[in-house]
Amino acid sequence: MLNAKLAVANSSEQQTVIQLSPAVAFGGKELVIIGGPCTVESQQQMETVATMLKASPVQVLRGGVYKPRTSPYSFQGLGIEGIEILSQVRSRYKIPVVTEVMSIAQIESLAASVDMLQVGSRNMQNFDLLKALGKVKKPVLLKRGLAATIEEFVMAAEYILSYGNSQVVLCERGIRSFDNYTRNVLDLGAVAALKQITHLPVIVDPSHAVGKRELVAPLAKAAVAAGADGLIIECHPEPEKSVSDARQALSLEDMVKLVDSLRPLAAVVGRKIASGVSLWQLAGTGVC
Ligand code: PEP
Ligand code: MN
Repeated sequence: MLNAKLAVANSSEQQTVIQLSPAVAFGGKELVIIGGPCTVESQQQMETVATMLKASPVQVLRGGVYKPRTSPYSFQGLGIEGIEILSQVRSRYKIPVVTEVMSIAQIESLAASVDMLQVGSRNMQNFDLLKALGKVKKPVLLKRGLAATIEEFVMAAEYILSYGNSQVVLCERGIRSFDNYTRNVLDLGAVAALKQITHLPVIVDPSHAVGKRELVAPLAKAAVAAGADGLIIECHPEPEKSVSDARQALSLEDMVKLVDSLRPLAAVVGRKIASGVSLWQLAGTGVC
């Protein structure tokens, strides 16, 4: 593995646990389930999502306010207004929040308002962004690049770690291949390999991997069986109306059903799904 020093595990027992809030930790026995829409669209939308997920074992809310869109003419995210929505929902519902950071300039305001900063696939090798995130005291959710090798992925994590931030969670979200029936190809071999090579928590995003809502549940189950430490899944109050990634969004009802259905499977691989509502709480000191 090139010259990774900090990301690689020294023994098969070494496992880093990353605490997001008093009740939520990546890399422990309990799987961390993150749910929410691709894009933050309105306060009402995020409140509906939070209300519904609050009655489920989903422990973290997702929603993009800066969106890396293929077309410059597609909706680019609500920006500052979206940060405000995330921040309000976060404190009203006491649920930790993760959102994508696309540039160094966005780090400060996002870090002040959310619990975890996501580096999207398209930025996995934006080395200046990785270095800057290395200097932030916030957990980072690092997604694998669309065509990144496992080694490149580990080295991207190494950038953040080597600049001083030890809180990195890896996310396998599918890689490009020749078949476009599914959006990407979920690389479960990478999940198993990363669990062996590194000591960092590894989660899976079945939504972007497969791109079709009817295929999300089987991949989520496969990810748990393969040893993932958690899942990040897109869901929306009106999935077909999602402003981005509508085809892969689950309804909130299906999201809750899916997470509940993972319970017996998690038990088989020695893991647990959270029990629900009471787990929602933020770190005592608030953000930053
Ligand atoms: C997302 O999480 O909405 C996203 C854009 O993911 P990725 O970077 O994996 O495409
Ligand atoms: Mn998306």
